[in-house]
Amino acid sequence: MYINYLWATHRLKYAKDRKSVQPYKGCILCGVAKDHPGVIKKVLYKDRLMMVIMNVFPYNVGHVQVVPVRHVEEIEDLTEEESGRMWRLVKKSVVMIKKTFQPKGFNIGFNIGGDIAGGSIRHLHCQIVPRYERDLGFMEVLADTKVMPMTLDQAFRELKKHSEILEE
Ligand SMILES: [Zn+2]
Repeated sequence: MYINYLWATHRLKYAKDRKSVQPYKGCILCGVAKDHPGVIKKVLYKDRLMMVIMNVFPYNVGHVQVVPVRHVEEIEDLTEEESGRMWRLVKKSVVMIKKTFQPKGFNIGFNIGGDIAGGSIRHLHCQIVPRYERDLGFMEVLADTKVMPMTLDQAFRELKKHSEILEE
């Protein structure tokens, strides 16, 4: 009797990797800041106070967030040093995104106060969403679906080419 084997040994590694990684249960942005293996991370810049990361559920190509490393929920709880660094990184992120994707405009802002403000993550973060000409096609208007012309990894790679702008 013949038995045909299809060798798929790469699956074993995958299964092992998944087993060894505990899903992260705490604040997701603290998980990114602590470089926890159970969190998807697309970090463009990080220093001891702030980081610039990709939003892994982007509204648009090139959507990034400026996030304090420390768990801070209210804007007034930022130190002067953190406030200054955060604002500089917002400016620099805009320059980086302009250089990478040449958007027509931006929406920049915070959702503070959790659900009431439409934000699900309490850890303070400033959203920087580039806007492009013809952003809204019929899929967005009629089907409540966002068409992304590029994967998250592709956008990350493109932004990385200009991420030296974020350095102090
Ligand atoms: Zn946090």
